[in-house]
Amino acid sequence: MSGSSSRPTAAPVPSKDYARQYRALAPELMPAIERVLLGDEPVLGAELSAFEGDFAAYLGRRHGVGVGTGTDALVLALRALGVGPGRAVLTAANTFVATVHAIRQVGARPVLVDPDPRSMLLDAAGAAAALDALDPAQASTAVLLPVHLYGRVCEPELAEFARARGLARIDDVAQAHGARDRDGVHAGSGADLACYSFHPSKNLGAFGDGGAIVTDQSELDGRLRVLRNLGKDGKYDVPEVAPNSKLDTLQAAILRVKLPHLDAWVERRREHAAIYDEGLRGVGDLELPGAGAGRHAYHLYVVRTERRDALRAHLSQCGVKASLHYPIPPHLQPAHVDLGYGAGSLPVAEQLAQTVLSLPVSHELEAREIERVVDAVREFFRG
Ligand SMILES: *Cc1c(COP(=O)(O)O)cnc(C)c1O
Repeated sequence: MSGSSSRPTAAPVPSKDYARQYRALAPELMPAIERVLLGDEPVLGAELSAFEGDFAAYLGRRHGVGVGTGTDALVLALRALGVGPGRAVLTAANTFVATVHAIRQVGARPVLVDPDPRSMLLDAAGAAAALDALDPAQASTAVLLPVHLYGRVCEPELAEFARARGLARIDDVAQAHGARDRDGVHAGSGADLACYSFHPSKNLGAFGDGGAIVTDQSELDGRLRVLRNLGKDGKYDVPEVAPNSKLDTLQAAILRVKLPHLDAWVERRREHAAIYDEGLRGVGDLELPGAGAGRHAYHLYVVRTERRDALRAHLSQCGVKASLHYPIPPHLQPAHVDLGYGAGSLPVAEQLAQTVLSLPVSHELEAREIERVVDAVREFFRG
């Protein structure tokens, strides 16, 4: 780690690099892609069923259903549980806007809960307070929708709370493929339905959009297969209106090649995080993310600082791409102002929006690139 390594002339450090990922896997990917191109099942093909089985088995669940996007996974999960107009769905106020979109797409009411300021996640205390503030009729049918944001597993007390209060639970695991709790169990395992995204930027990504839902309940598995396919029950019977949202066979074939690499990729992300933990401890006013009790999957390595925008500009000058997740919380987006949460109503989420900064942590990056980021951050706070 020499001081000169953060000069703008050094090679840039991207936040992700799809071409690198492809090159590393090309010898495995190309035959799988060709198999689909030469086959006659581009939709609902054998590679899709095979991937659904592989993914469910990896997660220790009984069923997996591939769908078009992570957002659709949430929408279809809500519908499979019969969640619609009038139902309250408790979720984290600092989540990606897609979580809130999904709740509204089925006509339900998002109840946004300020996260715990240390973990940045929805916790049992926040969820309990939000549930108790609902009128009893709403509370008795409420659904809990925790988000394992940034790749960190929500605290086990949240699962205990859902169980104790008899809440149905849908987990948004779009950022936490490969994350495990303190008992080594995958994030989202206790949920009725756990929803994943395979957007290319996620820990396990397709080369396009994709998503999946896993469950142990065979009735829900059956419902999801109808709901992702225009509401068709069999070939010609269509008892209800539903989207057409299936994971493409081609994307499933690609994901099947990638899945066996996921644990090693998460390990690589954790090594990067350890370099940051070590190199950035006590630097300036930086608050480091912390790992929690389980196996954090570090989809994102999110630091906080009051000087976020200046630090980001400095990093950009050094060729380092740092991103924001997210600069505007869902309740302050024009799409959701009608929910009636004004500015100041969710102070933790609003404070996070102003201070969070995601440092590059992707598994395609090399340790020396992470060290270059450490140098550039330290240089900023020295300067
Ligand atoms: C990416 C993401 C989604 C949506 O996934 P898409 O596949 O992009 O639709 C939902 N929730 C969270 C937390 C995400 O990060």
